[in-house]
Amino acid sequence: GVVAKAPPSPSPLRNSKFFQSNMRILVTGGAGFIGSHLVDKLMENEKNEVIVADNFFTGSKNNLEKWIGHPRFELIRHDVTEPLLVEVDQIYHLACPASPIFYKYNPVKTIKTNVIGTLNMLGLAKRVGARILLTSTSEVYGDPLEHPQKEEYWGNVNPIGVRSCYDEGKRVAETLMFDYHRQHGIEIRIARIFNTYGPRMNIDDGRVVSNFIAQALRGEALTVQSPGTQTRSFCFVSDMVDGLIRLMEGECTGPINIGNPGEFTMMELAETVKELINQKVELKLVENTPDDPRQRKPDVTKAKTLLGWEPNISLLHGLPLMEEDFRQRLGLPKKA
Ligand code: NAD
Ligand code: UDP
Ligand code: UDP
Repeated sequence: GVVAKAPPSPSPLRNSKFFQSNMRILVTGGAGFIGSHLVDKLMENEKNEVIVADNFFTGSKNNLEKWIGHPRFELIRHDVTEPLLVEVDQIYHLACPASPIFYKYNPVKTIKTNVIGTLNMLGLAKRVGARILLTSTSEVYGDPLEHPQKEEYWGNVNPIGVRSCYDEGKRVAETLMFDYHRQHGIEIRIARIFNTYGPRMNIDDGRVVSNFIAQALRGEALTVQSPGTQTRSFCFVSDMVDGLIRLMEGECTGPINIGNPGEFTMMELAETVKELINQKVELKLVENTPDDPRQRKPDVTKAKTLLGWEPNISLLHGLPLMEEDFRQRLGLPKKA
């Protein structure tokens, strides 16, 4: 006859009345830039218990300093390319370096993180019945031939270039998410994140906003990679975190674009940073890296209609908030 499989046994504490309405949430990559802001927001809700799993490749314990030792918080040094056994209700799967200099540093590791890491987190979601959200990227659109980018666009990605470990890695991660959803009924959410900036970015992260702000504060020339007419759209991190939580809590699987549709050329960005932070610095045109997307701007109609989400903080408001944070960390005086 058919042997009924015993359901996975949750820990006795989690069955107790006290914990019944609590939500235990795993955040992979939670020691990183976006992850640590997400953890801050999740911890504000006293019903949430948060577990962070991070290998500290680009993230740091400092980003989570205020939660270490908190009874509802736990930090695990863990590499997502290895299996992970925890009992959770939700998984925010962010683990993956996001800055080109870091994801290109060990491209094979980047692919493993995206593919094996996502597979492991899906296996975990399947075993415990958790809902899982993947932070995918606008890079899945590659060097886009449609502008602005809608979720229906399949992208224009070089499969063998130096960025492929990241963008093709994320594309496979999205495929895995949908296959686990269709084959195993896992509840999935996919966010396609567009360029995000804000306090706590690594000062030498290599991404454009952190580079320009650090250069302006240090009185160095701003390195605009040629031709300087390429565009990006920058979302402030608190808006991003708000969008991710809405997506997790809502009913739509995605993929859904989350980003700020304000579009700037890198030359405009450099001029804005110069104007705001240090009018004495020069702009210097330097060589670009291969396969740099020429334009990028999200169509956020879906996020607006399905999640009721829209970004609130414009670049002109967000840059000074980041400047303050960089001044502190660089040991510079507060702005007069
Ligand atoms: P980040 O580099 O600051 O954070 C990534 C975190 O993941 C770090 O704490 C790092 O130590 C950790 N990590 C990396 N590899 C790991 C592994 N194998 N095992 C465990 N932990 C690992 O980057 P971020 O900007 O906070 O990005 C977070 C997520 O958002 C990433 O998945 C990224 O692809 C995505 N995203 C970010 C942006 C952006 O502009 N910041 C844009 C698109 C997508
Ligand atoms: N996995 C994990 N934690 C779990 C359950 C699974 O890390 O709690 C990993 C597991 O090691 C495997 C992957 O997730 O490599 C996919 O698991 P799944 O059960 O879907 O596939 P299988 O183990 O059958 O290959
Ligand atoms: N960029 C630049 N100067 C820098 C770093 C980057 O002009 O010091 C440009 C880069 O060529 C790209 C854009 O800024 O067109 C965004 O690059 P970033 O690495 O921040 O993120 P990406 O969107 O490429 O992942």
